[in-house]
This record gives sequence, structure tokens and C-alpha cells, in this order.
Amino acid sequence: MRQIDHFIVGGSPAPTRFADVMDPNNGGVQARVTLGDAAVLERAVQAAQAAQPAWAAMNPQRRARVMFDFKSLIEKNMDTLAHMLSAEHGKVIADSKGDIQRGLEVVEFCCGLPHVLKGEYTQGAGPGIDVYSMRQPLGIGAGITPFNFPAMIPLWMGAVATSVGNAFILKPSERDPSVPNRLAELLLEAGMPEGIFQVVHGDKIMVDAILDHPAISAVSFVGSSDIAHYVYNRGVAAGKRVQAMGGAKNHGIIMPDADLDQVVNDLCGAAYGSAGERCMALPVVVPVGGDTAERLKEKLIPAIHALRVGVSTDAEAHYGPVVTAQHKAKVEGWIQTAVDEGSELVVDGRGFKLQGHEEGYFLGPTLLDHVTADMASYKEEIFGPVLQIVRAANFEEALALPSRHQYGNGVAIFTRNGHAAREFAARVNVGMVGINVPIPVPVAYHSFGGWKRSGFGDTDQYGMEGIRFWTKVKKITARWPDGGMGDAGNSFIIPTMG
Ligand code: NAD
Repeated sequence: MRQIDHFIVGGSPAPTRFADVMDPNNGGVQARVTLGDAAVLERAVQAAQAAQPAWAAMNPQRRARVMFDFKSLIEKNMDTLAHMLSAEHGKVIADSKGDIQRGLEVVEFCCGLPHVLKGEYTQGAGPGIDVYSMRQPLGIGAGITPFNFPAMIPLWMGAVATSVGNAFILKPSERDPSVPNRLAELLLEAGMPEGIFQVVHGDKIMVDAILDHPAISAVSFVGSSDIAHYVYNRGVAAGKRVQAMGGAKNHGIIMPDADLDQVVNDLCGAAYGSAGERCMALPVVVPVGGDTAERLKEKLIPAIHALRVGVSTDAEAHYGPVVTAQHKAKVEGWIQTAVDEGSELVVDGRGFKLQGHEEGYFLGPTLLDHVTADMASYKEEIFGPVLQIVRAANFEEALALPSRHQYGNGVAIFTRNGHAAREFAARVNVGMVGINVPIPVPVAYHSFGGWKRSGFGDTDQYGMEGIRFWTKVKKITARWPDGGMGDAGNSFIIPTMG
């Protein structure tokens, strides 16, 4: 059976524990991944410590050149990377290419890092005194990533962390570990020195080892909220800088004047694309007014019936299987809970079987109506191809729903009314807002991050926020007196510039 090992300097030590990597299209095990521990991490940390000072000392333009070469290598390998990703995750090939592309855009951002690393300078801040700042790398950083974007999220973190001069150790999801290893190989090919980007595989044991290791200065985590909270607390207690992005329950508000054809098109992609396994999916739709709800349903139901579920290599399929049998059972359980809680099951995706792939982890699309804010199935993340309709009587009620929800990752409003959109964007208590844009993932030179239980810590991923997270600022106050240091004055008083 194919085995996926750590990608660390000196090679992977003999493994003692493994996890199965499943085949979502057909069911069953397709490979096994080595699960590491503190001893494996120690090897990676030592290699990182040996490599990082020279990498940090290299001028930023040279580090950026590695990113340029990495970008073209990813482009050359796009097809094979996408097939590798789809085979383990289950998302369709075009969607895997989107996953890689969104990561690639962060690599492109990092090609311009000499510009963003420039510090600030004040000439003549006091008599003969200049003040300036410089951004310096932290040393060694780690990233812990979820299964649902095995290319994009490692690149969000790894490209920024390394290009600013850190060494980076990635602990990807054990459910789809092959693409992260391949990205590490491509980075070496692009000219990144050994030890700057390494991959260790594992579960909680490896995560805890990372959180406790004194030589790791910063940890970036993306995954579910309970684990994000745990990672944040343990990492911060160990004195690290931590950002931990968590789960989501994003709402799409449909105002009465919205273009419903466009909305239905957007909703189908945003609710069911990637089988709903996206932290920026739109699993809750909030039509404003009973008439909007009825008109929306009339258009939505046939569009849902027209969706094609297929294997990840089916070019005609809108989405593929979910990641594991356990995850499929969990999503089915939530659908049952929603029904038991009193919501109306309009379209039931359970029991869907794909001919020739009966053991695959497929789920048909599900639509639930008359979902209310007190239901557990509304409060919690389902992370499957399930769309819930929560009806609101007016704008204020619609605004309150995402604002009061425990998660605050993304939200979207669909309207032709600029004033309503502007008001909504300013007042909603959510980190990322779309206006007639269903999945408002900011572009690479802005930053990504949710609020409330969708994000612990206070810096976002990539863009300038990413640069801030992966660097520390040194502030220098310099004086070059004419004729030596003899005129330093009284040193017993707090210095002022006055
Ligand atoms: P997960 O929380 O199960 O796993 C994430 C990472 O944590 C993995 O590397 C995993 O190995 C590790 N992990 C798992 N259990 C652990 C434990 N007990 N202790 C320490 N580490 C542990 O998440 P997942 O199922 O891989 O990914 C889906 C989740 O990620 C969803 O909740 C989704 O919303 C969220 N997500 C959030 C964002 C965001 O930016 N906010 C982006 C993508 C995914």
C-alpha cells in the first residue's frame, strides 16, 4: 500500500503509527500516512534551526525569486496536483484547481515581498535623531491545516512565513496529506534551501508537540472551532504567537429586490459546491419577507434537482463525495436532527447512491425550510451539502441572525439597493462580507479572517495581516552626534524629543 511519510531533512524515521487515507469516490483505504510525534518534530526543528539564519540573511529579492520559480512550477504541475488533491479529498477537478489557484495567488503576492517588508523611517525625530523600524522574521513557525483546502491553506501560511525569512513546519490534515508533500518537493525544486519548508504528519500527538516546542515561535491553525480554541489557548500559554481560524455558518441575506436568478445560481454553487465542505460555503439562506421566500423556493428547488453529483474526475459533476464515511454519517445525522427539531425537509439528499460507486461517500443535495434560530442544526456547523432556509420578516431581523450567531466567518447580502448593502456591511458582526458575492474570500493582497468563534487571535491570514503575523518589528532610535558622544546630556530624565 502507498505510504505517505514526513517530508523532513534527513528523511522520515521508521514509523510506528499510521492513519488510513480513504478513497472518497469508492470507499475503502487508498494509502496510509505516517503519524509522527515529538521525536520526529525535534528532527524537523533542528533542521529548521540550522537552515533559517542563512535564509533570513539572504536579501529579500532572492527569496522572492524562489517564490517566482515556485509559482511557475505549481502552474506546470497544476493538472497532476489537482488530480492528487481530488483523489484524496473528493472535490471535483475544476474545484481542486481553484483550491490550488487561490494558494498560488498568495505565492504571487509573496513575489512582491521586498516591497512590503520595507520599514518606516523618520529623519530628525529629535535633535540629530532618526527613528526607523525593520520587519524581521520570527525564526521557526508552524502551520496546522484542515482537510478541506489541502493546497490553498498550506500556501496561505507557508508562502508568507517562508518568504519573509522564517523556517516553516507544516502539519497538514492526515485525511489528504499527499499534496502538501508535493508542494514541499516543488519548493526545493524552486531553490528553497532544505529545512525551510518541512512537512510532518500526525494527529493530536504531533499538534501538542508543536504547541509545546520552545523553539517554535508562532503557530497558525485552521480547522474546527473547538480545536482552534484549544490550539490558541495552549499555544499562547506556551508563549507563542497564535492565530487559529475555526468553523463557520455563513448566511446569505436575500432582499426582496435581489435578482433571484442570479441568487439561485450563486446559492447552488456556494451551498453545494465542494459538497458544502468549505468554511466560506453559504449553508444558510435568509429571504427577507414571506413573498421573497416563496419566490426563491420556486426557483431554487428545480435548480437543486438539476445538480449533478459525481466522482471527482467527472467533468460534468457539480460536486463529488464528502471526505470520509464518518463525515457522511455526521451530515446525515444533522439532517435528521433538523427534521426532529421541526424544520421542513424540502429536498432530502440522504440515501443517494452513485451507480458503480455505491461505496463512495456521496450525499445528494438537501434543502430544509422553516429553520429557526433556536435549533441546534442552525447553531452548529454541518459542513455538508445542506442548505437551510431561515425566514426573516425584515432587514433588521435578517441583520441580527448572522450578527448574533456564534460563528462570524463570512456573510453575503443580495440586493439592488446600495443603501441597504452599505448599511448591512457596516453593521453586521461578521469578519468577511459579500455584496452580491456569495463567497467573499478576499484576494491575496487583502487578508482573510473571521470573527467570534471563527477566529481566535487577532491577525488574519495572508496579505499585510499575514506579513504582520509572521514578522516582528524592531524599532531603532539612532543619534550620530557631531564630534562624538560627549554631549549626551543628563541621562537621569526620561528622554523626550522636545
Ligand atoms: P479539524 O479541526 O478536525 O482538523 C484541523 C487540524 O487539527 C488537522 O490538522 C488535524 O489533524 C488537527 N486535529 C484534529 N483533532 C485534533 C485534536 N484533538 N487536537 C489537536 N489537533 C487536532 O478540522 P477539519 O475537519 O480538518 O476541517 C474542517 C473544519 O475546518 C471546519 O470546521 C471548517 O469550517 C474549518 N475551516 C475553517 C477555515 C477558516 O479559515 N475559518 C478554513 C477552512 C476550514
